[in-house]
Amino acid sequence: MKEWESNIRRVEPYVPGEQPKISDVIKLNTNENPYPPSPAVKEAAKKLNINDCRLYPDPEVSDLTGAIAEFYGVDKDQVFVGVGSDDVISMCFLTFFNSDKPILFPNISYSFYSVWADLYRIPYEKQPLDKDFKINPSDYYKDNGGVIFPNPNAPTGLYMELDAVEDIIRHNQDVVVIIDEAYIDFGGKSAMDFVNKYENVMVVQTFSKSRSMAGMRIGYAIANKALIKALNDVKFSFNSYTMNRTSIAYGVASINDNEYFEKCVNKIIETREAAKKSLTELGFSFPDSKSNFIFATHKSVPAKEIFEKLKEKHIFVRYFNQPIIDNYLRITVGTDEEMSKLMDALKEIVA
Ligand code: PMP
Repeated sequence: MKEWESNIRRVEPYVPGEQPKISDVIKLNTNENPYPPSPAVKEAAKKLNINDCRLYPDPEVSDLTGAIAEFYGVDKDQVFVGVGSDDVISMCFLTFFNSDKPILFPNISYSFYSVWADLYRIPYEKQPLDKDFKINPSDYYKDNGGVIFPNPNAPTGLYMELDAVEDIIRHNQDVVVIIDEAYIDFGGKSAMDFVNKYENVMVVQTFSKSRSMAGMRIGYAIANKALIKALNDVKFSFNSYTMNRTSIAYGVASINDNEYFEKCVNKIIETREAAKKSLTELGFSFPDSKSNFIFATHKSVPAKEIFEKLKEKHIFVRYFNQPIIDNYLRITVGTDEEMSKLMDALKEIVA
């Protein structure tokens, strides 16, 4: 092997869900929101001036951090924004997980965590979920270099009550605990209040799911000022201008329209609950999702077969070919119409 070859940083990359190139598909594979963003975002688009493209965006992203701070009733310097929560969490790994001790996260969880850990050479130890896919807080009582878990968890959709979340925090006062709340708006309670109670807690959320803006790439973290300062120091050592002007303007418009946001989220919850009933009738079972997806397994037909047959019908869901969950499908909650077409297709497949 040539020296330059041995100097390459080799990583096994994260594999995102497929973005099909064909039209006429029902896309239930990447937990996107089936509804458009707030009409206020459309108005914001009209106000954009193409000539402003020549100017760098505000490196502090003050408009957006200010709007998010106001929404949550926290201080502006308790908010950090990034290019989707992927960017935010990746920066958190780089900033906070610098111990020789392993960081802890669930064995069935967002698969990007181990990818970032490998990329940044952070040791990690996955903690097994129980047989019902629940996180066992006492698995996180051991000595570690940091803790991260999604709530609700992905891809299971299972929500952990806040007293269990707080239990994990209480047992981990010496490390940073990150709660990845990508799906919290679909029925769970946010751990946001803990950021003022515990100096080591970071809550991360995203505009990608509940705010219908996966394409604009906006994520944010809320924590105490010292953690946010540390995060910004690393960000400014990496790339000063992560957020572009368009994303900033759209993000501000979106967070200021709470009425539309709540309407949209409630509609998805309603559709999800109806989908749970239909799936049960078809012989599926699943952990009780509080997210915008359902993680379902069928009593007799293998998940892989269902996945492939749905794809032939241009219905995309997510299948993870990995131990423990290889007989499950992660189905994003779409519109009522999309879900009804999905159920018709499933009826034929599992009959
Ligand atoms: N956390 C979890 C648990 C996710 O499922 C996702 C979506 N893939 C993300 C974070 C990242 O989402 P985004 O970068 O679009 O904010």
